[in-house]
Amino acid sequence: MDNSLAEIQTNSENISSEAALIWKNCLSIIKENVPLITYNTWFLPIKPLSIESGKLRIQVPNNFFIEWIEEHYNTLITRAIRQVIGEEAELIYVILEEDDPLPPMVDAIAEEKPAPKTVAKAKDFDNYLNPRYTFENFIKGENNQLARAASVAISKNPGNTSFNPLFIYGGVGLGKTHLVQAIGNTVLKNFPRKRVIYLSSDIFTIEFVEAIQNNKVNEFSAFYKSMDVLIIDDIQFLIGKEKTQDLFFHIFNTLHQMGKQIVLTSDKPPKELKGMNERLISRFQWGLSADIQPPDFETRIAILKNKSENYGIELSPEILEYIAHNITSNIRELEGCLIKLLASSSLSSKEIDLELVKKTVNEISTKRQIKTSIETITKIVCEHFNVDENKVREKNRKKEVVIARQVAMYLAKKLTNFSLKTIGLHFGGRDHSTVIHAFNNVDNMMAQDPKLKEKVEHLRNRIELGY
Ligand code: ADP
Ligand code: MG
Repeated sequence: MDNSLAEIQTNSENISSEAALIWKNCLSIIKENVPLITYNTWFLPIKPLSIESGKLRIQVPNNFFIEWIEEHYNTLITRAIRQVIGEEAELIYVILEEDDPLPPMVDAIAEEKPAPKTVAKAKDFDNYLNPRYTFENFIKGENNQLARAASVAISKNPGNTSFNPLFIYGGVGLGKTHLVQAIGNTVLKNFPRKRVIYLSSDIFTIEFVEAIQNNKVNEFSAFYKSMDVLIIDDIQFLIGKEKTQDLFFHIFNTLHQMGKQIVLTSDKPPKELKGMNERLISRFQWGLSADIQPPDFETRIAILKNKSENYGIELSPEILEYIAHNITSNIRELEGCLIKLLASSSLSSKEIDLELVKKTVNEISTKRQIKTSIETITKIVCEHFNVDENKVREKNRKKEVVIARQVAMYLAKKLTNFSLKTIGLHFGGRDHSTVIHAFNNVDNMMAQDPKLKEKVEHLRNRIELGY
C-alpha cells in the first residue's frame, strides 16, 4: 500500500454533494462486480468527502480497509472512478483519527440533495451487542471486582491498556456475557466510529464453516481483522476445532500487533483449557486473566434489591434473605426467580409472600437438577466408556471412541433443547446429519442389545440426577 495516499484527517469536513454523487455512481459500478456481502463489508462503510481536479477523497474506517481494498479491489475501484470521473481520476483515502469529534455529515447519497446533518457511525454490520448490558446495571461485588475494573478501564481506552487480551473466566450465570457486552456498548458510546463486534465462539465457528463452503475464508478473516474491538464469548467451545483455532490464532496476532482490543470469556482459566492449541493458550495469558466467582451473600442481596426495584416490586428483607440463602451459585437463577415471582403474583393477583417465594425457589432448584449441559453429558459418558473427552471431538474412528461419541450425542439430543447443529458443533464441528445418524444408530443398537440399553439408561439417570 502506498502510505502517501492515506491521510489522517484532523478537522471536520463537510461532504460535498458533488463527491457524493460521483461516489454513488462509482458504487453502482462496483456493486455489479462484487458479491453483495463484499459490497456491504468493504464499500458501504466508505464515505465520500470531496472532489477536486479529479481527486476523489474518501473516508475509510482504518488502515486495514485501505490495505484490503488496494490488494483485492484496486483494479475494480480504479476502473470505476475512471469511468465516472475520467482518466485523470485519483483516489485519496482518508482515515479519521479516533479522537476527532464526529464530522457533520450530509447524507447526500440517500437524499441526492442537501439533507439534515446526521452522525456517521461505524456500523455497517451486525455487532450482535445487546444494549441491555451496561456497567450501570452491573452490580459490583467482591466476586467480580477485578474483572469489572479491567472491563471499565478497557472501555475508556480500548487497545491501549496492558489488558490485551482481557480474559474473563468463571462458571455459568455469573455475569461474563453481561460484562463483556457492557465493554462493547460502552466503547461504542465513547468512540462511535470504532468497529466493535461481539459473538460467541460457536457463531464464529459456524460462520467459518460457511465461509469455507463458500470459498470466502480470506474475506471472513479480513472482516474480523478489521475490528477495533473483538469480543469472543465462551472461547472454550473452540476446543477440538483445530482449523477454527488456527484461523483465530492469525486473527488474534494481527489484531494484537495493530494494538486492537481483544476480549475473551471462558468457563475455565486459560491453562485449564485442555485441547486448546498451546500457542493460543499462551497468547490468552499475554494480557490479564480475571475470574468471576459466585456472588457472596451481600452481593446476592444487592443484586436482588436492584433487580426487584427495576421490576417495580418491593420485597421485604425476610424474602430477600430467603432467596439469597437458597439460590447461591448463579445470578441468572436469582433473576429467573424474580421474574417467576412477578409472573405468579400477577397471574393470581396475590402479593408476593414468603409462601409463594418458598414454592418458587423450590421449583427452580428442581429444574436446575434436570438442566444439563452438553459438556456434562460428554464428561459423564466419556468417564463411563473410559475414553478421553477430547477424542470424541476429534476425527477418531476407534470403536470405543465412536460409541462414546454417539451415545453422548444421543443423550445430548434427548436431554437438552440444543439444536442438532449446536450439538454437532460441540462434537468437533460435525454437521447435523451426523447427529441424526448417531441418534438413530444408538436407538437401533439399544433395541437389539439390552446391555447397551441398560448402560445408556444408567448414564441418563446419572446425568439427570447429577451423581
Ligand atoms: P455468564 O455469561 O457468566 O453465564 P451472564 O452474563 O449471562 O452470565 O449473566 C446471567 C444473568 O445475570 C444476566 O441476565 C446478567 O444481566 C445477570 N448478571 C450477572 N452478573 C450481574 C451483576 N453483577 N449485576 C447485575 N446483573 C448481573
Ligand atoms: Mg455467557
